[in-house]
Amino acid sequence: MGELHMRVAIITGAASGIGAATAWRLARDGASVTVADINEEGADKVVSDMRAAGLHALAVGVDVRHQEENMALVDKTLKKFGRLDIACANAGIPQGAMPVEEVSDSQIEQLLSINIRGVVGLAQAVAPAFKSQRSGVFVATASTAGVRPRPGIQVYSATKGAVIAFVRALALEWAPYGVRACAVSPVATNTPMLPQFQSVAGNREEDVSTVLESFRKTVPLGRLADAEDIAEAIGFLVSDRARMMTGTVLDVDGGRNL
Ligand code: NAD
Repeated sequence: MGELHMRVAIITGAASGIGAATAWRLARDGASVTVADINEEGADKVVSDMRAAGLHALAVGVDVRHQEENMALVDKTLKKFGRLDIACANAGIPQGAMPVEEVSDSQIEQLLSINIRGVVGLAQAVAPAFKSQRSGVFVATASTAGVRPRPGIQVYSATKGAVIAFVRALALEWAPYGVRACAVSPVATNTPMLPQFQSVAGNREEDVSTVLESFRKTVPLGRLADAEDIAEAIGFLVSDRARMMTGTVLDVDGGRNL
């Protein structure tokens, strides 16, 4: 029996990349998992693959920018699985590298509303359940960009720095209830998102393999992270093995933040 047997988890941005790998990790550890994403078709596909593997999963369409959708996500999960123990605020969008004065108002608005407002919104939506049962774990996907930024992705980096500050504050706020809040900071991870950051040097003409190589070279361990590397860290943080850890920001960075 897995260590997350009888636990119920929500993961946003779980139709792809790190979120999907986390859904598989937590479900393989015994959890029932709500796979939530704005990409409903993608979420359905992940859930049907998980069910085919004998795992417990539910697909829910959510746009984390809208608080009523975050609330509905929690309601649907409680209705389906009867409880809620784990919330992973993972949905996020990247930013193409460019000088700060070229970032459009709508890009800034999207980055803030998804990467920050969406994380705050999930915390607001799960707070009543976590506080009343006096247990629960919240894990946000931050980024090495939040502590060791690269040139040209300044607004994205600011959102991830904000996520880290938010989780640390939340850890203190929820500690009296026995509820934990942590974050992971992945380094460049081989998901559909990564090429969208474009070159760390800001050259928008480069092809995907050149972009990935430019990221790889900055990782001391000499490779990009895989989504599963990040899922392992999240799987640890949400488990009882991490029971004394709160406010922790776990770097999964191959040494990049050193
Ligand atoms: P991905 O693009 O593979 O997955 C992101 C998912 O979020 C997608 O399925 C997308 O549909 C979903 N999403 C986007 N906007 C949404 C919204 N408004 N509501 C609900 N879902 C939405 O990317 P990924 O690399 O797996 O990214 C997951 C998280 O990891 C993000 O927060 C990202 O910033 C962070 N991260 C990624 C990297 C990397 O190099 N890939 C590094 C550090 C941190």
